[in-house]
Amino acid sequence: MARPVVAIVGRPNVGKSTIFNRIARERIAIVEDTPGVTRDRIYTHSIWLNHEFSLIDTGGIEFADQPFMTQIRNQVDIAIDEADVIVFLVNAREGITDADEKIAQILYRAHKKVVLAVNKADNPEQRQDIYDFYALGFGDPVPVSGTQGTGLGDLLDAIVAEFPTEIEDDDDQSIKFSLIGRPNVGKSSLVNAMLGEDRVIVSEIEGTTRDAIDTKFTDESGQEFTMIDTAGIRKRGRVYEATEKYAVMRAQSAIDRSDVVLFVIDGKDGLREQDKKVAGYAHEAGCGIIIVVNKWDLVKKDTKTMAEFTEKLRGELQYLEYAPIVFVSALTKQRLIQLPEMIKTVSENQQRRVQSSVLNDVLLKAVAITPTPNVKGHRLRVYYLTQVAIKPPTFVVFVNDPDLFHFSYQRFLINQLRQTFDFAGTPIRLIARKRK
Ligand code: GDP
Ligand code: GDP
Repeated sequence: MARPVVAIVGRPNVGKSTIFNRIARERIAIVEDTPGVTRDRIYTHSIWLNHEFSLIDTGGIEFADQPFMTQIRNQVDIAIDEADVIVFLVNAREGITDADEKIAQILYRAHKKVVLAVNKADNPEQRQDIYDFYALGFGDPVPVSGTQGTGLGDLLDAIVAEFPTEIEDDDDQSIKFSLIGRPNVGKSSLVNAMLGEDRVIVSEIEGTTRDAIDTKFTDESGQEFTMIDTAGIRKRGRVYEATEKYAVMRAQSAIDRSDVVLFVIDGKDGLREQDKKVAGYAHEAGCGIIIVVNKWDLVKKDTKTMAEFTEKLRGELQYLEYAPIVFVSALTKQRLIQLPEMIKTVSENQQRRVQSSVLNDVLLKAVAITPTPNVKGHRLRVYYLTQVAIKPPTFVVFVNDPDLFHFSYQRFLINQLRQTFDFAGTPIRLIARKRK
């Protein structure tokens, strides 16, 4: 099920990023450090009382050369487009300003759920002083203090109370995937070419609450797919879509809803920095990943070109070593027919479960090939390996001391798993636990 999306809006300096970081800090997900992933985040996940949600700090999407009110207007528009619940943040110390009133007017017209939060209510008097803000017309203002961390529980309660009570679609067996990549790599062309194939039956096009358009189709084998829409595909032509931060945020939100991500690269231009950020996010999110090198028709080729391109790409994207690479052309439709089948295989690999008895045979053999490392006289001992989750496959290895379980040995064990079982296209997580 898709997570609800919450966006924070408000004029500069009311404390949006402070509140964002406070809420982000509560996040529970275990993520690895991946090179290329930005840390100046405007998008994160959080969980409150069993409600998982995504959170956007619209203040982080800047429009440098725009007038003050246009900037705010764009940020509020993004919130309206993306979010189920909008947190409208104001400043207790300054009262209602003109800009606050303008934001309120845009929000009334949007008919979205709005929670009004009054920040910088650092002490009891300031917490009492919030009554003026009723005038904004969004009901009970929630006093908070981003710097002190007070009132956040009440704010989160108010936010989750507004979440849509979504009907879970249990019958949806479709594989959800999205195409991500820089503008102009050919995502929309690929979408159109894939949906235009004779063998593909487009069954329904559904608009969701967020005005996103997901497309369902069925391939020859009867497998159903849901293509999650991403910015750059629909081309709605809003001003803010041109900003890189917006595009990255939008890709992140599509990745969160996807089982498998098609990471599209321009075969003529090769890899750029922005490509790596988004790919890193997909890797961290645990999605299945297929690298799609598009515009292969434009590349002058000889018998070695593909191998050379692959080698270069593998060097630049080492952490995606598990992702299959396919060379296609949206223009000539070369190899497009392989894509649904590849998505299906990766999706199966993501859901593969291996019995503990089989895993421990692999572990025994692995230790026999490469003995566990000895760190300053302490030898790592590995006792037991078991799979605890799928999507992505996640394993726990019980050891004498997790501090001795270094990256290189971890990598070695993951490689042993990959060599023994088919986990192509899916990340693998390995967690070391101390044996009690
Ligand atoms: P943004 O522009 O809305 O994202 O605002 P920031 O989060 O960058 O905060 C602007 C300034 O207000 C920073 O100097 C923060 O330290 C400060 N600030 C944020 N929250 C509070 C608060 O609850 N109380 C006080 N006194 N200052 C705060
Ligand atoms: P998007 O921004 O990633 O959705 O990219 P588009 O699908 O809009 O494609 C950008 C440009 O590349 C357009 O002019 C397309 O016609 C062109 N294009 C897309 N795919 C191919 C391809 O496989 N071969 C060639 N030669 N051009 C392509």
